[in-house]
Amino acid sequence: MKSVRLEHVTKSFGKVETINDLNLMIQPGEFFTFLGPSGCGKTTTLRMIAGFYYPTTGKIYFDDANVTGLQPNKRNIGMVFQNYALFPHMTVDENIAFGLKVRKMPTTVIRKKVDRIREIVHLGPYGNRKINELSGGQQQRVALARALVIEPDILLLDEPLSNLDAKLREETRVEIKRIQSELGVTTIYVTHDQTEAMAMSDRIMVMDRGHVQQVGTPQEIYNRPINRFVSNFIGETNLLEATIDEVSSEDLIVTTCDGWTLRGKRENISPLIKLKIGETVYVSIRPESIQQGPGENDLSGIISFVEFTGLSVQYIVNMPSATLKAMILNDGSPLKQIGDEIVLNIPPEGLYFLGE
Ligand code: ATP
Repeated sequence: MKSVRLEHVTKSFGKVETINDLNLMIQPGEFFTFLGPSGCGKTTTLRMIAGFYYPTTGKIYFDDANVTGLQPNKRNIGMVFQNYALFPHMTVDENIAFGLKVRKMPTTVIRKKVDRIREIVHLGPYGNRKINELSGGQQQRVALARALVIEPDILLLDEPLSNLDAKLREETRVEIKRIQSELGVTTIYVTHDQTEAMAMSDRIMVMDRGHVQQVGTPQEIYNRPINRFVSNFIGETNLLEATIDEVSSEDLIVTTCDGWTLRGKRENISPLIKLKIGETVYVSIRPESIQQGPGENDLSGIISFVEFTGLSVQYIVNMPSATLKAMILNDGSPLKQIGDEIVLNIPPEGLYFLGE
C-alpha cells in the first residue's frame, strides 16, 4: 500500500500538450478512478504512473520515493489492460505464475502464492484450464490474479471491463471492488463509464482535454459538480440558464430564461460562481429532484414524451426556451399524456448553481 503523488506533471506528444499541469495525491489503499471522455488523457496519465511514458515535465512519487525516471519493472506495479494480454496457450496457473517466475522465486513459494490468489479471485478449480477454455469474465479475473500475485504496491486497471457484456461487467465490478478491499492495495482505475466510476471508487478525478475538472468522492462529484462539464458528464441533468436576482446569507434567487423564479440554497453553489446581481448562472436540476404538482419552485410546460418504467415515470417537458427531463416516482396516479400541460416543482435542495 503506497501513496501516489503527481507534481506539476505535463505530457506533450510533439507540440500537442496532452496533460496540463496535473497535481494529484492518491492515498494508500485508495480506489481512485480517472474518468472522462475518450481522448481526455486518462490512459496517458496511467501510463506515466506505470512508467511506460515519462512526463515531459513534473514529478511522480510513490510514497516519498521519486519514481519519475524509473523503468516500469522497477516500480512494483500490477497492471490489467482492456484486452487482458494473457498467454492463450498456457494454463491459468502458468499465466498467474508468470511474473513470479521472471523474478526467479522458488517453486514452492510460487505454488503457495498462486493457490492463494486463485482462491481470492474465485477461480479455485480452474488452475489447469487453458485460457482459451475460459469465459471473458474468467479471463479478466486471471489477468487480475496475475497482476496481484506479485503483491504490487499499486494496482493499475485500464478499462478492464470494456470487453465484457453489460451483465458480466456489473458482476465483475463488484468482484474487483471486493478483491481490492480485501487486499487493501492502492488502485487506480481508468474508465469513461460514469456508473462504473461511481459504484467502485473512493474518489474520482474527472478529466477533460488534458485538464482536471474535479476531484472528489462519487457523492461530491454527483451532488456538487464544479462546472457544467462535470454536471453533464456525471449522470443526467437539466441545465437552465438564469440570472441572479437576490443573494442572502441563506438563499440564492434567480429568474430563468422562461421567467420562472427559483429559490435555492446558498450552500448549493459552485465555488466558481460569481455571486453578483444580474450575473448569468446555470441551474442544474437532476431529473429525480423534480416533483409533480405545485410547490415551492414551480415550472410548467407541455409534455412531449412519456415513459413508464414501473418504478418511475419519465416526462420530457417543453417550455418556451428550455426542455426539462423529469423522473417522477410512480405513486399509482394516472399518467399524463403527450400534449398535456404539467406543473412541476423543485425543492430548494434540488437546485445546484453553476457558473459559465
Ligand atoms: P480513451 O478513453 O479513448 O482511451 P484517454 O482519455 O485514455 O482516451 P489518451 O489515450 O490518454 O486518452 O490520449 C490523450 C490524447 O493524447 C489523445 O489525443 C491521443 O491521441 C494522444 N496520444 C496518446 N498517446 C499518444 C502517442 N503515443 N503519440 C501521440 N499522441 C498520443
